[in-house]
Amino acid sequence: MAKAVSTPAKRSAATSRPLVSARPPASFKTRGHDEASARLATLLADSPPHALLIVGPRGAGAGTLARDAVATLLCTAPAEGGACGACRSCRLVASGSHADLALIAPSGAADEIGITPIRELEQSLALLPVEGGRRIALIERADRMSEAAQNALLKTLEEPPPRTHIILSAAEDSSLMPTIRSRCASVRLGLPESAAASELLATQLGLDAATAMRLLRMAGGRPGPLLEAGVTGDAARAHAQLRRQLLDFVGVAPHARLRQIPTLIGDASAILAAGVDTQEGDATSGEGEPDTQDGEPDDTAEVEPKKKAAATRSSAKPTPAERRAAAAALLRLWRGVARDLALVAAGATESIGFPEDLHELTPVAARCEATVWRDALISIDRALTAVRRNGNPELLLDAIALRWPRA
Ligand SMILES: [Zn+2]
Repeated sequence: MAKAVSTPAKRSAATSRPLVSARPPASFKTRGHDEASARLATLLADSPPHALLIVGPRGAGAGTLARDAVATLLCTAPAEGGACGACRSCRLVASGSHADLALIAPSGAADEIGITPIRELEQSLALLPVEGGRRIALIERADRMSEAAQNALLKTLEEPPPRTHIILSAAEDSSLMPTIRSRCASVRLGLPESAAASELLATQLGLDAATAMRLLRMAGGRPGPLLEAGVTGDAARAHAQLRRQLLDFVGVAPHARLRQIPTLIGDASAILAAGVDTQEGDATSGEGEPDTQDGEPDDTAEVEPKKKAAATRSSAKPTPAERRAAAAALLRLWRGVARDLALVAAGATESIGFPEDLHELTPVAARCEATVWRDALISIDRALTAVRRNGNPELLLDAIALRWPRA
């Protein structure tokens, strides 16, 4: 457990409401975000802002960049563009035990930041720094702050005590009050540059370059969830194998496909349980068109049942939410295959999600017209929407299996 500023940490422990995040700040520097990192370095160089908001898609690196900002502000011997990583302060930040750092993250069943830790923060920021430099508060996933918490934070932002800095990281800033946003200097980032992100995965998880790149693509370009789960190369191999089976479907009779569906659902769920949220054809598409036909970020809506599905895999009978999550996992994966086939058939091979599979995609794509694959893709999109709207997941998958092109 990371140590926060002493008083609030003790109090929150007593009320079983953790003020501090269980996860200490990572000791590595943000990779694949050169532009955002440069902007952050400029912001922190001379007179760092009292409040800093870092916004980026979940798992893409905003949290890491925020922790970099914390380290830079607390470092006693900052090197060019950031923390030295070696001084006492840097070591304390890396282990999550710096006395002048308060960490706040969502907690509880509501996965929310309530008003209590924000009130405690106000008190702790009023104290003098223990290490002599600055007092920092890091509010992770700040978009999960309740309205009351945001109002309380606003007070602190309006009259920040001297030598204090509040760093907020968030997946999107639309749920933050405009008055909070306007008081923060902000840094925005998108998905990390893929070569840098896959190199990070390879180093951190001990993977070869091709496996790391495949896993990154499977996760829609977001290294965060993979690092958090400590995913292994098995997930990449299972993914390649499952895609191969779906490609083979083109030569399999419809009734024989139906028999394979339960196994495929199990395989897709296993990939999901390994920490890979298969958002294929989504962030990997390069079209900037997220898979959100309903106008809602569907991963936030579905993350919970999926996580539960993964956690309770061993229990006997899956709940409806687990069945939906498992079906959606297979459908997303299948969608990725359909999308790649449609693109290859249309001659747009440069846009496919998994270029390493091109040699397997090409002969299958050639067996049908491009419009046939496009129609198959549309059917899967409709099935995904229907699953989200509580349609029977197994029936929807069976329909896709029966309708899948045969040639
Ligand atoms: Zn340092």
